[in-house]
Amino acid sequence: MNLSTYKKYILLTTISSCFFLILFLCLYIYTNKQEKSDYIATTADFKKEIESQLESSWSPFEDQLNDMSFWDEFVKYIQTKDKKWFNFYLGSTIDVYGLDLISVYNLNGDLVNARTTGNFNGDIIPRKLISILHKKKYLTFFINDNGTYYKVYASTIHPSNDPEKKLSSPKGYFFMGLRLDEKYFEKIKNISSASKCIINISNIDAKKDNITFSKELIDWKGKVIGKFHFEKNYTKDFAVSKIILRIIIAFFLIYLIINIYFSRKWVFTPLKLITTILESNSNSEQINELKNINGEFGHIGELFENNNLQKINLINAKTQAEKSDKLKSAFLANLSHEIRTPINAINGFSELLLNTKTTVDEKKSYLKVINKSGQNLINIIDDLIEMSKIESNLISPNLTAIDLDSSIKELFESIKVTISSKKNIELRLIESKFKPSHYIVTDETKLKQIITNIVTNAIKFTEKGSVTLQYEVNETENTITFSVIDTGIGINEENLEKIFERFRRIESDLSIKVGGLGLGLSISKAYIELLGGNIRLESKIDKGSKFIFSIPLQYETNTLHKVKRTKKIKPLDDKIHTILIAEDDNINFLLFEKIINDFNYTILRAKNGQEAIDICTKNKDIDLILMDIKMPVLSGFEAISQIRKIYPQIPIIAQTAYSSEEDKIKIKHAGFTDYISKPLDRIKLNNLITTYLNENPN
Ligand code: ADP
Repeated sequence: MNLSTYKKYILLTTISSCFFLILFLCLYIYTNKQEKSDYIATTADFKKEIESQLESSWSPFEDQLNDMSFWDEFVKYIQTKDKKWFNFYLGSTIDVYGLDLISVYNLNGDLVNARTTGNFNGDIIPRKLISILHKKKYLTFFINDNGTYYKVYASTIHPSNDPEKKLSSPKGYFFMGLRLDEKYFEKIKNISSASKCIINISNIDAKKDNITFSKELIDWKGKVIGKFHFEKNYTKDFAVSKIILRIIIAFFLIYLIINIYFSRKWVFTPLKLITTILESNSNSEQINELKNINGEFGHIGELFENNNLQKINLINAKTQAEKSDKLKSAFLANLSHEIRTPINAINGFSELLLNTKTTVDEKKSYLKVINKSGQNLINIIDDLIEMSKIESNLISPNLTAIDLDSSIKELFESIKVTISSKKNIELRLIESKFKPSHYIVTDETKLKQIITNIVTNAIKFTEKGSVTLQYEVNETENTITFSVIDTGIGINEENLEKIFERFRRIESDLSIKVGGLGLGLSISKAYIELLGGNIRLESKIDKGSKFIFSIPLQYETNTLHKVKRTKKIKPLDDKIHTILIAEDDNINFLLFEKIINDFNYTILRAKNGQEAIDICTKNKDIDLILMDIKMPVLSGFEAISQIRKIYPQIPIIAQTAYSSEEDKIKIKHAGFTDYISKPLDRIKLNNLITTYLNENPN
């Protein structure tokens, strides 16, 4: 049988209920039967009891009558009518036996004498009866004398030699009477269990359920002249047992209804919900309903909800994984393209330089391309490293106090010079109307990088028109808001959010042409958030875009923040400065030498960290050290700690291939005055040397 759990439960309940109902019914029928048979048995017992009580109350009179009816003295009395004798021998029996009547009649039927307990003459015997008694010798019967009933014992009188009353003819008639009155009834009630005892001609109106017994009173003619009624209380109360059984059945039925109602509510409904949820493969409305049920089902509801959430998360994660898989593939293709382009340029132009006869001007232009391509490669690598650091949460802001206005102006100018003359773009700067009262605390490098990213994007994606960089300091809202507005190709609504995702580019002819890894904006967004700000974008296709980002305004009040002030570079004095270059790689050293040789410096070279220490120990007139970080024997980090003991103040500039912010901080912590990243930028190197020799003229 393929039944649901609830149906099985209902079936079981129905069967057990039927079983109990049958049991209760059997008990009820049995009690009924018991009651009937007990009533019958009690009635029979009552009858027997009353009959034996009547018998025992009447039998002494019969014996007495018999004893006195064959007595010579009695025969003689009939003749003598001696009242004295009558009173002494016969009349006294009234008192002795509790009789109510003693009477004697002669053969003519005349009353010889009578004695009674009541106020009557005692002649109550019908004369016709005497002739019947004459023949029968002995009679007992009932008589109704004006509403008073008597039990009468009658006998003929014979001499003492004829006790059987067969030898002689009767000499007279002797009667004994017992009045069946209240007194007699009381006596019967006292010696029996009867509660009521009356004489009536009709059937008595007995109390319901009481036991009754009636005995007919028959006169001397054999006619029923009345009835002796006895009644007894029937005390065994089977009704209570039956009521209890009825109550049990009623309660059982109520229990059954309650059981079915609540099992439906607590078991059937939740199970149905679970089935529906499982069949419909998640249904949040039903899950909520299940969750609201107290107890295990509520818990199952919560599990369903968790499961649902996990499922949704898994689906999302799967979609996300598929998306990022696609993104990564696109990124790899893009990356490969982005790397190949500069490498191709480097390879192609260096081959041209080697293999063809070129003019000095051509050589210059080829070298510019090679240089630019190398720079592009470095930018790509920097972006990749930066993104992976952002993802690993390795980036933290390096807060310094800056002069916002001059810092932005300086950045703006440096971006402006990069705009190709072919582009018909006007680059504008709208300074903050409100001038900050103090230096501002922020990570200058990151802020500049954010602005550079957004502005160079705007320049890249704008063919004609303008690109405006605007910033506003708001002291009431405590914010600095930067806006970069262009009149370029714009971005459709669908991509407004997406372009901030990593590796995300809008595939258009222009974006393919200008290139890019799709990392710039995601790095910028991460930086803005790192500085405690946010970025948004408004854009319309073919109308242009507006990137707006805000960072918190924080004035320099904390002395811990180093104030970075713009340095004024003075021309160097005539002194010939000595520069120590610690560099293991010959080509790199050559490059250094070439760049630095343009100026009038004495150059010393160390091939490892140890040599650098040794040279420093021997030469006390070194003005500046350019130190590679990665060197054999002793690294730059190890060597500087020793050199600082000899030259605590001398400018030591680290040259490193690692150029991330964190590396820069590490370098500064090690005791280096500044750093320059490889590949070397000629102008940057010269600026650095001039700046530090100027600060430390010795
Ligand atoms: P990339 O470094 O490749 O430029 P970004 O994250 O900086 O990557 O930019 C992602 C994409 O956003 C770009 O490829 C371009 O499609 C779109 N984009 C960014 N700035 C602009 C802009 N000012 N106008 C139009 N499109 C833009």
